[in-house]
Amino acid sequence: MSSLPHLDPAAAASLAAWLRGQESAMLACLEDWVGCESPSLDKAAVDRMSERVAQAFAAAGDFQMRRLSASECGDGLDLFAPGADLSLPELLILGHCDTVYPIGTLAHQPFRVSDSLAWGPGVMDMKAGLVSALFAWRALAASGLRPRRGIRFLFTGDEEIGSRASRGWIEDRARRAGVVLVLEPGLGLEGHLKTARKGIASYTLRARGRAAHAGVDFESGASAIVELARRIVEIAAWSDPARGVSLNPGVIRGGTRSNVVAAEAEVECDLRAWQPADLESLDRRLRGLVSGDPRVSLEITGGINRPPMPRTSAIASLFAATRALALPLGLALEESATGGGSDGNFTAALGVPTLDGLGVAGAGAHSPQEHCRLDTWPPRTALLACLLLML
Ligand SMILES: [Zn+2]
Repeated sequence: MSSLPHLDPAAAASLAAWLRGQESAMLACLEDWVGCESPSLDKAAVDRMSERVAQAFAAAGDFQMRRLSASECGDGLDLFAPGADLSLPELLILGHCDTVYPIGTLAHQPFRVSDSLAWGPGVMDMKAGLVSALFAWRALAASGLRPRRGIRFLFTGDEEIGSRASRGWIEDRARRAGVVLVLEPGLGLEGHLKTARKGIASYTLRARGRAAHAGVDFESGASAIVELARRIVEIAAWSDPARGVSLNPGVIRGGTRSNVVAAEAEVECDLRAWQPADLESLDRRLRGLVSGDPRVSLEITGGINRPPMPRTSAIASLFAATRALALPLGLALEESATGGGSDGNFTAALGVPTLDGLGVAGAGAHSPQEHCRLDTWPPRTALLACLLLML
């Protein structure tokens, strides 16, 4: 992967120039798509957004289009265009139409542009990434350039809630792909690409004891809270910052009244690790937890949601090749590793070289301060077009 076929510098320059001329069209599309609010838990809203994306791509090229239906979240959108070299496996590009913001967020967090930054709910994560994909494709079409590989875009509707419905679609297509690119935003305002991500597991640990009157009958009770508290202290000590392993008891519930020995208590935990073996070994330890009080039972539910995306040598080479393509476009790209997950975790875990963070550069994701950079957006989009063409 480190030696891509030579890209004619004139072709790269013409893609970049065409995209510079599209800044206002890209911005208008971004405003329209940010204006189409699409919270993960509102299927109708996410489907509306996905329909807008489908129409824009249908107008931009001759795609084989399939809608992948999901019952409880937004449908998926699969767009395929064959490449020039049929012997090469496909290039898969992943994006998501859902955001974390409820309907109505726009009323107090409107789309706006100032000082070469765009603000709004989902603007960087990842409406701008979807716009990049559209305009990268349009740039190739306008220049009459045809990618070597078949290009498959897969846009899903449940990434922000763990990709339960779309994981199978993603993995099926990744198995057929030679390379995967992910349109998640780059890290920070510099927009570093992401070459490693932690794996994520989440659990609910429940303790069930015996209720009793705290004054009259204290000894006959068995406190679920006390037992759970001991187990929380035990498992929290399994975090290992040096190895990048974190086990966070993030939510706790239990008991009814202060004068009742608590019969039930539960804790929700988030577990993350860089290495698959660390995630799996802590998963086993959690399942093997033993109650210190025979009258209190423990039950654990949950498990590994996203496997880690380790920085393999194939991913390092893919980054190096991308960095070389980016330099003539005026982008000095760096790579980064992040504790956050994406759909790239699934494809990397299958051993398919995956490069993430190819969307826009920005900051404040999932917050009222979410914004992205507009000055580096057209060149990053030109880079995406070059990758579609050359990989
Ligand atoms: Zn995202």
